Amino acid sequence: MKKNMKPKSINRSHSTKGEVKIAKLIGFCSGVTVAVRGTEKILGIPEKSPASKKVYCVGHLIHNSNVIMRLRKKGLRVVRHVKSVPEKTTVVIRAHGLPVDEIKTLKKKNCEIRDFTCPILKKIHRTIERLRNEEFFIVIVGNPAHAEVRALRSHAGENCAVVENEKQARNFKKKRKIAVICQSTITEERFLKIAGLFVGKARELYILNTICAEVTARRIETIRLAKISKMVIIVGDKKSSNTRHLAEIAKNFCRVRIVSDAKELEKGEIVYPLTITSGASSPEDLVMEIYGKVVKKDD
Ligand code: SF4
Repeated sequence: MKKNMKPKSINRSHSTKGEVKIAKLIGFCSGVTVAVRGTEKILGIPEKSPASKKVYCVGHLIHNSNVIMRLRKKGLRVVRHVKSVPEKTTVVIRAHGLPVDEIKTLKKKNCEIRDFTCPILKKIHRTIERLRNEEFFIVIVGNPAHAEVRALRSHAGENCAVVENEKQARNFKKKRKIAVICQSTITEERFLKIAGLFVGKARELYILNTICAEVTARRIETIRLAKISKMVIIVGDKKSSNTRHLAEIAKNFCRVRIVSDAKELEKGEIVYPLTITSGASSPEDLVMEIYGKVVKKDD
């Protein structure tokens, strides 16, 4: 996108050309920004020179295939398991964090670990460890297969369970002390429904809302804009849970499309008033590029 395509009126404002609005809260969240910028620095971006050492990441650094592809071209090696990481190499830890035993394995391999786990998630890791020391049974409301949840769970030890739905919560056996927390990207509605079912299941019950405030702010803004739009385009990767949740919320009010490239949009499918927003792992320049293409496509 040409630099002058980002007029002041649409830079972080609702005032846009015609019937197209761009949400204020677009682009990377703070945790993703730290992970991407930190990894770029290690890889020697923006300088042209390739990284002088091999840099590995176990799993995707963030949930955005385009960004990962760009980092791969600059030398990032993405592997599925810690066992695929060679000894004495540099390893960046993804924004969602890695399970404790996997970090231990990397240390045993004498790897240089550059930890880009989101600081908000690190704080939750410390909270889980405190609750574990206080002998709480820890319940994590979320998706057990999600990288963030796997890392959270690893800090809780044996006395921990991941609960995905209301049925599992209803069938949960009583314990002496239960602490209920959640994956940072689930909706408040789902957390309240599931956490509420633990009332009466323990003599001591502690419920802690660990939903990320940045995710909540985007949801509130998306609801407000979806209510006054006929269509919402969410720039993001379908693998990203916060992107999918934004789509679920907006669908209650209008037509919704998740796109990672303007090419995915058919001419004539856009309806107005239109809002463009993004998931937390989509760069702001991609959102602005899609905005430019959408406006041009429908001219
Ligand atoms: S969504 Fe929130 S918790 Fe997740 S990486 Fe971004 S800032 Fe961190």
